[in-house]
Amino acid sequence: MKKTLLLVDDESQILIALKRVFIDEGYEIFTANNGKEALKILEEFSVQVIISDQSMPEMTGTEFFTQVKKKYPNSIRIILSAHVDFESVKSAINDGAIYKYFNKPWDPTLLRQAAEEAFLTNAELRQKELNLIRLMNYAKLTGMVPKHSLVSESELQLALDQGQFLVYYQPIIDMNTGKVTVVEALLRWLHPTRGLLMPDQFIGFCEEVGLILPLGAWMLRTACRQLKIWHDMGHATLSLAVNLSVRQFDQPNLLALIGDTLAETKISPSNLELEMTETLVMSHIEANLVVLNALRQLGVKLSLDDFGTGYSSLSYLKQLPIQILKIDKSFIRDIPADKNSAEIVVAIIALAKNLNLSIVAEGVENKAQWQFLKEKQCDFIQGYLFSKAIPATECTELLSSEKTNNIIK
Ligand code: C2E
Ligand code: CA
Ligand code: CA
Repeated sequence: MKKTLLLVDDESQILIALKRVFIDEGYEIFTANNGKEALKILEEFSVQVIISDQSMPEMTGTEFFTQVKKKYPNSIRIILSAHVDFESVKSAINDGAIYKYFNKPWDPTLLRQAAEEAFLTNAELRQKELNLIRLMNYAKLTGMVPKHSLVSESELQLALDQGQFLVYYQPIIDMNTGKVTVVEALLRWLHPTRGLLMPDQFIGFCEEVGLILPLGAWMLRTACRQLKIWHDMGHATLSLAVNLSVRQFDQPNLLALIGDTLAETKISPSNLELEMTETLVMSHIEANLVVLNALRQLGVKLSLDDFGTGYSSLSYLKQLPIQILKIDKSFIRDIPADKNSAEIVVAIIALAKNLNLSIVAEGVENKAQWQFLKEKQCDFIQGYLFSKAIPATECTELLSSEKTNNIIK
């Protein structure tokens, strides 16, 4: 069956831009300049996904969608809006009129993804997800948190209360010794009906509704307790790496939370590494420097994650109290064959050495990548070549085995 898409916007320029987003994706595309015209099209053709502007003369996007919902309950409805219209969008969301919501200017990739997802999910899942709306950038733009309109928020809260979250651990290997020196803690959600969910399926949402704070605190405590178990088993020098998101980083009690958790679980601060993305650190750099320095004072190590994807200036990089750079996996993916990636990786390693930072390559999946990194004197590697993120029990076995030595030699 051909995938059909209806695009509705009163501005022809936007309609053209929208069409361009989907033109190569094999859709049959209909366009309309207003809700009335769109409803006519729907009478004649069967359309699966409708993407509509919110502010249009005569009939707003939400008014249009309310009618669509009644007549064509199985269609998937995505709305585009400037955030000023949020109140009306919100009431439509409450009525289940809208599947997804994007602020202008929308990200074409995310929009394409949303439409694609809409075709892929089955009707039942779709019905459930009607309320699981990603309010793109909403919290940031308005400084408010959407509370009651989101069923998934209570679902997340329940998950936290019922212990549906898990911490997986991915080993980071010292290139020189072949030993696991650090494990990175990565969240998983064992959903009662949807199975094991990966962080990109829920972290962004937790961040938006603020649940990342209790979840992050739980994750830190759980991982520190596990590290203590490993220390007591004899892996005394093993360190733990934990990711911090924007909201966690900005929380007023961050220092107390980390200090208390370390004390309670009897972990030395020098065994904890906090990973923050380059993008997070470099935004509001002056204010962030204060927090970073305070964290450093606490004795924990600081690591710049996904390095190479943001916009670090060298002068700021020098000022940062960080100890570790993690090269983003997008650069590792195509080495050694791709010249650009190879050059970037070499440059980042040189930069790190210059600044006296340890360097970790993420996403190492094959021997050719490993060989290249070894030659270029990268200090640490992390990736599927050695192990994916695994549950604590499996990690315990791995720590006691000689697996690394076999791969690295
Ligand atoms: P990240 O911090 O960059 O974590 C590394 C991601 O790369 C993990 O994905 C890991 O499973 C994946 N990975 C590791 N080795 C390979 C490889 O060889 N090839 C490929 N293709 N991928 C590899 P994961 O677990 O899905 O986590 C995704 C992101 O979610 C993390 O990216 C991190 O930003 C975030 N995240 C995970 N746990 C937490 C958490 O507790 N708190 C916060 N704030 N963010 C978290
Ligand atoms: Ca990380
Ligand atoms: Ca990363």
